[in-house]
Amino acid sequence: MDKAYEIAIAGAGPAGLAAALYLERAGHKVTVFERFDEPKPVGSGLMLQPTGLSVLADLGLLDEILSLGSRIERLHGTDAKSGRTVLDVRYGARRGRRFGLAVHRAALFGVLYRAARRADIRIETNVEIDTLETGERARPVCANGRRLGPFDLVVDASGARSRLRHCLGDTAVPRPLTYGAFWASLGWRDGFGEKALLQRYDKASIMVGVLPIGRPDPGARAMAAFFWSLKPAEAEQVRAEGLEAWKAKVVSVWPECEAFTSQIDSFEHLALARYGHHTMRLPAGRRLAVIGDAAHSTSPQLGQGANMALLDAAALSHALARTSDIDEALESYARARRWHVRVFQALSLSLTPFYQSDSVVLPFVRDRLVAALGKIPPVPQFLAAMVAGTVIDPFRPIGLAESQWALAGSSATDRMPLPAGRRAAAADSPD
Ligand SMILES: Cc1cc2nc3c(=O)[nH]c(=O)nc-3n(C[C@H](O)[C@H](O)[C@H](O)COP(=O)(O)OP(=O)(O)OC[C@H]3O[C@@H](n4cnc5c(N)ncnc54)[C@H](O)[C@@H]3O)c2cc1C
Repeated sequence: MDKAYEIAIAGAGPAGLAAALYLERAGHKVTVFERFDEPKPVGSGLMLQPTGLSVLADLGLLDEILSLGSRIERLHGTDAKSGRTVLDVRYGARRGRRFGLAVHRAALFGVLYRAARRADIRIETNVEIDTLETGERARPVCANGRRLGPFDLVVDASGARSRLRHCLGDTAVPRPLTYGAFWASLGWRDGFGEKALLQRYDKASIMVGVLPIGRPDPGARAMAAFFWSLKPAEAEQVRAEGLEAWKAKVVSVWPECEAFTSQIDSFEHLALARYGHHTMRLPAGRRLAVIGDAAHSTSPQLGQGANMALLDAAALSHALARTSDIDEALESYARARRWHVRVFQALSLSLTPFYQSDSVVLPFVRDRLVAALGKIPPVPQFLAAMVAGTVIDPFRPIGLAESQWALAGSSATDRMPLPAGRRAAAADSPD
């Protein structure tokens, strides 16, 4: 590397920690600033796709995350009234033995955070960055007026509600989506698909889901992420009607879910997630790179957000390694991610209302047309690529090769895919 930069990263979420690991390894001097007293994960579980898993492999963290998560081979949705299958997406519909990995948020956070600690990366907590002064170098300014730095580069990884991105002239705030969800991490119960995300729907206004997420840390019990779609605007009313009334509604849609609702003894167990959607047109410039949800946030229906955050981190590091001109590197980072981000943001925005909206037409189409088409090639292959995050190639523009999953075993704990790594040759050619 020609030049070592001093780099500040705002936010210790998946994007910020992955960027810190990449940039520190590239020889830069990195400091992460996190607003919480202690860095911590927020929320329940999430799905890592072959995209995000390839980044973790590149960072040498694949085995650790695989040992904690739960391997997912299929996404399966059923109409609650008729029992008909209306969604059946299998990673195996394409060659390459891809799979998803459902993880507890604490597992992903822990794997990245421990690696950052091992690398002696400076993490300053209780620092809430508000804005940026830019000149020859950049100075992040905190909400309390404290000025940090100066730094050669600031990375905004502060999530969907980022204020820093406004420094690039992007004043947009994520557009709130009508539906969000109650989420809970609960003890796993047998009788549900161990390698599947299972969902039940009634039109698009009711959706309940069960996702096996493995363990938050090695000694812990196996867990499930349980979610119930609802409008955040109606959450207060649901609470006022009482926990038993809500549980009765869940069980009327999916009786076996009593195994999960019986573990919930107060609404405090249920985190209310609100979703918003926005995509920055140009997530870089003036000594500032914006990555992860700060640059693009959306509903989690397609399960891509954390994976895109990890890809952004890899892309930024790759761009900085290729030139000693920061402005050029920032342009190159934005260019490398542009189409993958735009395509998936558009897919997410257009598909979410089929699963979460007040529409009666869209779920009707979903239950008839999509369910039937979903069996006719190349639709199953396309759906598999969409869920895997590989409808368009996210790897080549960022100098990363997808991990080779062909040697993967039958479970997350007994498989041993070849490490990915930059310059690695792909095992199977993409479909
Ligand atoms: C319910 C739910 C389910 C989801 N499911 C999936 C899924 O299945 N698959 C998937 O890939 N994605 C999923 N996502 C999306 C995923 O969680 C996000 O895309 C991902 O967390 C983005 O990572 P990030 O690091 O960019 O932002 P965040 O995870 O939001 O991290 C931002 C960090 O910055 C800190 N911070 C904020 N402001 C400041 C500041 N001013 N100064 C300093 N620090 C600051 C925050 O405290 C936080 O630690 C889901 C999201 C939700 C809400």
